[in-house]
Amino acid sequence: MAEDKGTALVTGASSGIGAVYADRLAARGFDLILVARNEARLAEVAARVVARHGVKVRTLAADLGAEDGLAKVEAVIDEDDTISCLVNNAGFGSAAPMASADVREMQAMVAINIVAPLRLTYAAARTFVARGRGAIVNISSIVAIGPELLNGVYGGTKSFILAFSHSLRKELAGTGVSVQVVLPGATGTEFWDTAGLPASNLPTEWVMSAADLVDAALVGLERGEFATIPSLMDASEWDAWEAARAKMLPHLSNATPAERYREKAEP
Ligand code: NAP
Repeated sequence: MAEDKGTALVTGASSGIGAVYADRLAARGFDLILVARNEARLAEVAARVVARHGVKVRTLAADLGAEDGLAKVEAVIDEDDTISCLVNNAGFGSAAPMASADVREMQAMVAINIVAPLRLTYAAARTFVARGRGAIVNISSIVAIGPELLNGVYGGTKSFILAFSHSLRKELAGTGVSVQVVLPGATGTEFWDTAGLPASNLPTEWVMSAADLVDAALVGLERGEFATIPSLMDASEWDAWEAARAKMLPHLSNATPAERYREKAEP
């Protein structure tokens, strides 16, 4: 008998990367719970996926920036013991310089890009650990490595996702629950329209399709990879970055300040 994959809950599934995750996870045999605000678009994605793959698909309209929306999705994660995979994908960015961006929009970005995945990960990790299996996929961005590349608050939110994923991976080691963080480069979705810089303004050689991005990310997931950067050609560059961090870590706490910060005594 085929392995029962359980149900994948995908946030931000009404368009772009999340809609492709829905299709590809269904193709692998997962039933789906699709979350976003736009009910009509969720229903379209669901109908397409059911027609193509014949899996069970539920839609859950929820604003992940609002407490009641978050609570609604948390309750589903708590109650539905078929959920075996959480894809924290919903998010938005901005191309506006931090200083000229509206601070309330920046705060809303923190709510969707940080608080929502944090809350849903807490809910999922609890039940996944109790069952000894599950996968948490967090969609970060290459700006986690280069937060100065786009709007700085956006970069900061994606750096949080990378840092949080590192810690989660360490804390969940040996529990049967896997953690993957995906760092897309520029991807051709509505993200760029929302950010105020349509993707048509970017050099075409920078922009990956959402389909290629998700297919590559799932290759990484199935290989048990922690950090997946589909657009990075030379994986040794990531390994070198990780090695540099690992080398510095034991030297970062010290009772005495480094020599270079000591005031020189007057002659
Ligand atoms: P997208 O097409 O704009 O999709 C964003 C998704 O998030 C939509 O389904 C949207 O649905 C949902 N969403 C936004 N605000 C929400 C809210 N308050 N509550 C619930 N759902 C909400 O963009 P995308 O490129 O696929 O983005 C997906 C993820 O990839 C994001 O986290 C983004 O930061 C990341 N990423 C994108 C790129 C890129 O170049 N495209 C690069 C790196 C990382 P509704 O509007 O229906 O709510």
